[in-house]
Amino acid sequence: MPNEAIDWNSLGNQFEDSSAIKVLEYSLNELSKHGQILFLTAFGPEGCVIMAMLHTLVKNQLIEAKSFTIANLDTGYQFQETLELKDRLEEKYNFEILMHHPALSVLEQDLKYGERLYERDPDQCCFMRKLAPLQGLLDGKLAWITSIRREQTEHRAKALAFEYDKKFKLGKINPLIKWTRSDIWKYIHENSVPYNPLLDNGYESIGCKPCTSIGSDRKNSRWAGKDKIECGLHVQDHEVEQGGEFVI
Ligand code: SF4
Repeated sequence: MPNEAIDWNSLGNQFEDSSAIKVLEYSLNELSKHGQILFLTAFGPEGCVIMAMLHTLVKNQLIEAKSFTIANLDTGYQFQETLELKDRLEEKYNFEILMHHPALSVLEQDLKYGERLYERDPDQCCFMRKLAPLQGLLDGKLAWITSIRREQTEHRAKALAFEYDKKFKLGKINPLIKWTRSDIWKYIHENSVPYNPLLDNGYESIGCKPCTSIGSDRKNSRWAGKDKIECGLHVQDHEVEQGGEFVI
């Protein structure tokens, strides 16, 4: 079944009251018959929760491990703690996580565009180190699984469990949309899910090292002092126009 033949938004409405694990189980049992599904994670607490759920589903033989691929956009600017968390997650859950790199290394980007592009033009830096590589990862896939939650930003507040991603032209699976921050941490503690130790040191949201600071909330801890609140991965083009925010 081609991607366009799936009514993603109807599915989203149908699964509005379903648990995250049910959304994942349905996706990886039924939808994966029609194409490849990618789980993209930046190793935030939500991504770690999804990984623990995928492990539970595989362990209980409710889904097959080959029904999905896990990947991270390795911008070259991630914290050492984040890279170590990747190793801990792989070991604990017996997954192999694909590290996907931008076309240019950090050094090559510095030579071509000048050092500290993230300070002068973070949109261009995010485009080259996140959005363009993501496009390459998503090409030919049926859908991608994300860790977004409705309460995180205004852009994410209207997300459904399943929706069509107009920007990248594939399905988008958002199992955690209804979860609150405290739901996430309750799950992490109850299930001993590995998480980034920087979150115990005052960081609320962890991305690339140069653009992450200690802050009281997501808005204050990423791109502090700038209007930017999204790297553009989860903002649809029509929202960009309406919001007047340049994201790619
Ligand atoms: S978050 Fe910062 S360093 Fe990372 S890609 Fe975007 S601008 Fe560049």
